Amino acid sequence: MIIHKVEVGELATNCYVVICSQTKKSFIIDPGGDLDKIKRLSKDTYPIFIMNTHGHIDHIKENQELKKQYGLKVLIHKDDAFMLEDANLNLSSYIWGKNVILSPADKLIEGGDILEVGKLKVQVYHTPGHSFGGVCFLVENQNGDKALFTGDTLFASSIGRTDLYGGSFSCLIKSIKEKILVFEDNLTIYPGHGPTTKVGIEKANNPYVK
Ligand SMILES: [Zn+2]
Ligand SMILES: [Zn+2]
Repeated sequence: MIIHKVEVGELATNCYVVICSQTKKSFIIDPGGDLDKIKRLSKDTYPIFIMNTHGHIDHIKENQELKKQYGLKVLIHKDDAFMLEDANLNLSSYIWGKNVILSPADKLIEGGDILEVGKLKVQVYHTPGHSFGGVCFLVENQNGDKALFTGDTLFASSIGRTDLYGGSFSCLIKSIKEKILVFEDNLTIYPGHGPTTKVGIEKANNPYVK
């Protein structure tokens, strides 16, 4: 599997293009801005899904344009799906003073779902606490190599905000401890903002969950 990372938008959100090495099929996680950068990274691949880790504008903004250009499907957890169409809840009106209303998702996902992108297996983990429908994606290739995408649930040495609509500190900590820190220590975490980290590093150092 090939993972391209690019920082997009005013909030420096990490957008990832994850590619199956054998088939060149790909999916895009959290296209929150800078359409051209994302298109450049997706070049020579066949994007089939957009996967939103949650419904905040800095993670969803380019859903529509990418969908138009690639004809791909937009996936989001069922508990965050309504945020695509609500400028208050997706925070576009709050962050930019501009209402951004996107079209509904093509497929609603929930914890336990497994998707296939070429030879890659993508498993959905429901990790509420930053929003109601926040999810993490565990991606695995045929050799057993894995990568975990945590959106705004867990960052290197930090965690997502819990003061926004749908947020809950106790719920977020529970999600992180029960769904993320149970993975093997050497699993690489690709968060929604900031640098990559590993499960073992967060277990030992993250002040919120130590
Ligand atoms: Zn967020
Ligand atoms: Zn964010």
